[in-house]
Amino acid sequence: MTAIQPHQKAKALKPGSRRPAKELCSECGLCDTHYIHYVKDACAFLNQQVAELEEQTHGRSRQLDQPDDVYFGVHDSMMAARRTEPIEGAQWTGIVSTIAIEMLNRGLVEGVICVQNTEEDRFQPLPVIARTPAEILAARVNKPTLSPNLSVLEQVERSGMKRLLVIGVGCQIQALRAVEKSLGLEQLYVLGTPCVDNVTRAGLQKFLETTSRSPDTVVHYEFMQDYRVHFKHSDGSEETVPFFGLKTNQLKDVFAPSCMSCFDYVNSLADLVVGYMGAPFGWQWIVVRNDRGQAMLDLVGDYLETQPVMSQGDRHNAVQQSIPAYDKGVTLPMWAAKLMGVVIDKIGPKGLEYARFSIDSHFTRNYLYVKRHHPEILDAHVPEYAKQIVEQYQLPD
Ligand code: FAD
Ligand code: SF4
Repeated sequence: MTAIQPHQKAKALKPGSRRPAKELCSECGLCDTHYIHYVKDACAFLNQQVAELEEQTHGRSRQLDQPDDVYFGVHDSMMAARRTEPIEGAQWTGIVSTIAIEMLNRGLVEGVICVQNTEEDRFQPLPVIARTPAEILAARVNKPTLSPNLSVLEQVERSGMKRLLVIGVGCQIQALRAVEKSLGLEQLYVLGTPCVDNVTRAGLQKFLETTSRSPDTVVHYEFMQDYRVHFKHSDGSEETVPFFGLKTNQLKDVFAPSCMSCFDYVNSLADLVVGYMGAPFGWQWIVVRNDRGQAMLDLVGDYLETQPVMSQGDRHNAVQQSIPAYDKGVTLPMWAAKLMGVVIDKIGPKGLEYARFSIDSHFTRNYLYVKRHHPEILDAHVPEYAKQIVEQYQLPD
């Protein structure tokens, strides 16, 4: 395994001094390497070029007259899946780790960029180039913090590796795609996850302290399709908090400015995306974007049960009503939040419509954020597909 301590390196820098995206920097790691020379072109927050990179990666960009393309990006197919024997300690059932291990075991790749955590802190990210299944497994479960995954790219070059798998979130993958041709690789595979509302380590602490009954014992959490945040604690107990009971007024500043400005929730440039939000509760959501993605998924067919994606309900009213509520930082009393959570779980959007609900809610919020905080970049930074999504709603000034 090849590991570095990126945050030690990052700490030595004055904030923003080597991060041209300044406060919008998501710490993707590119600027920790000599590939920083490409940053003005490559950084997702300095040069939004999703359509061009889709063309480069998938052979076409998303079609703006195809609603599923607009929402979920270029894709050949989607499905719901889960491992029949879930991997203990994985974020969901461990499909991401399983694919990476199979690719390594079958010699498709020589190494996998993924992110473990430091010994001292379960939530502090430690990007590595994993070369064994055990090292991939040690990276399972989300580190719900900004993670400089690309900081190990230079080591890939030095190692002479030619076939690589990168696991990452949208902003990391956009920068990766922009420098892909300079990496000297014969084959690059990209396994992406959707990503939203990420935080710095300090922001994570505030989120846990504001939301959980026992912030110090949380080992895992996820915003799930039943409109609740599910926390797992070190003693094995579970805690759920309804979305509508979150202390929005205190949490507004917790999310990283990069994530408040992101319009690539669904990881448009990965070959294969594994998330959960377009699938029924308990299942994972798979989006195959191209032939490489299909080949990766085919490797793990024996481990999975699958079902077609479904869609139910209509998200529009719920999204429209949530826009001013979020904007004003409204927090419901817990009894009302629980009641609302139960009702919306029964009659609210499900499957792909839940995914659209989540995309709409985040894109409208983020559009307002960029408009208010960075109006000079609004037009160029928001991709056409996101503008189309946001235009469905009435936004406050
Ligand atoms: P596992 O087998 O447990 O593997 C997890 C993989 O994630 C590991 O290989 C690890 O390298 C990688 N990883 C962990 N933390 C990070 C990080 N900070 N940056 C980059 N890579 C990381 N899915 C949705 O459908 N909707 C969402 O809103 C959503 N938000 C997410 C937010 C974050 C910050 C992350 C990291 C993921 C998010 N996902 C979301 C994806 C989802 O939570 C699962 O990661 C995904 O379904 C894979 O689960 P698994 O059990 O197969 O993964
Ligand atoms: Fe550099 Fe990545 Fe930050 Fe952009 S997001 S400034 S590429 S580290």
